[in-house]
Amino acid sequence: MTVVQPLHILTPLVPSPELSHRTGVNIWLKLENIQPSGSFKIRGLGHISQKAVQQHGDQAHLVCSSGGNAGLAVAYAGRKLGVKATIVVPTTTSEFMRKKIEAEGATVVVEGEAWDEADKRARAIIATDPHAVYMPPFDHPDVWKGNSTMIPEIKAQLGGIVPDAVVCSVGGGGLINGIILGLQEAGWNNVPVLALETNGANSFQQSFAAGQLVTLPKITSIATTLGAKTVSAKTFELSQVHPVVPHVVEDAEAVRACHQFLSDHRFLVEPSCGAALAAAYTPGLFVKTFPHLKKNSNIVMIVCGGSNINFEILEQFKNQFGVGSH
Ligand SMILES: *Cc1c(COP(=O)(O)O)cnc(C)c1O
Repeated sequence: MTVVQPLHILTPLVPSPELSHRTGVNIWLKLENIQPSGSFKIRGLGHISQKAVQQHGDQAHLVCSSGGNAGLAVAYAGRKLGVKATIVVPTTTSEFMRKKIEAEGATVVVEGEAWDEADKRARAIIATDPHAVYMPPFDHPDVWKGNSTMIPEIKAQLGGIVPDAVVCSVGGGGLINGIILGLQEAGWNNVPVLALETNGANSFQQSFAAGQLVTLPKITSIATTLGAKTVSAKTFELSQVHPVVPHVVEDAEAVRACHQFLSDHRFLVEPSCGAALAAAYTPGLFVKTFPHLKKNSNIVMIVCGGSNINFEILEQFKNQFGVGSH
């Protein structure tokens, strides 16, 4: 049997003196922002891309309808695996992201004003090519399986320490599903997950509160990466059997967290990641959420990253929310 090398890298888990000082507990950062393609997405989409190539060989054609980090991860996977990748994006996808996807050698097709229309086109492309495979950004067991690989890494890196909580952001739920499935596989069934969303993209928090899946009428947050109108059914299901605490922050807090994290750690991340980081920049949130925390407690924060950011974009967000002038 040949061993298939994964497309993602083993990312460092680093202690954060800065965030530990702010929060009063030991903060560990899982640096998914340094993955190739700039986010954790390559774990799940890399895994499903490799499965497509195992099935279809060189003829495999990866088709994705995300103009965000999922599309970029698929484009990267296509290049690394030497197969065709087509990313269908709506007109709202920035030139900035389109260029990044094209730079990976993928074909970018622009279709429609919203994701629904782009997705329809992606499915039409697949219908005409027997070797085309649909690449779901978050709602698929193979994506969760790939995303879950960060947990055994963290377990090995913590060398015997059991974390007191894991912190991540939630969009469609592919990341948190992978985390929870990974925690369960590691025997860490009691390790709670603090799940952050921005207000206006809080489909998980609303579902959790309602006790059933809730679909948002529209996404009003600037953290478009978190903008799934409905979280995956699996996310809701897992939140009923694993300790999960949803928390919602404002866009301004997510942007402020990006700004502060850049200053504290010299890493530039998207507001979708800033949402998770905002937990550490909200005084008292950890202790309030998890009363069992002590001074030597350990919290792992997933720095999910994101490529749809540069200095100009951060500046625009900061101006929009009046961040950074103090
Ligand atoms: C995709 C993504 C998320 C959200 O992940 P889901 O699997 O959709 O919940 C958060 N942050 C970044 C940077 C992402 O790319």
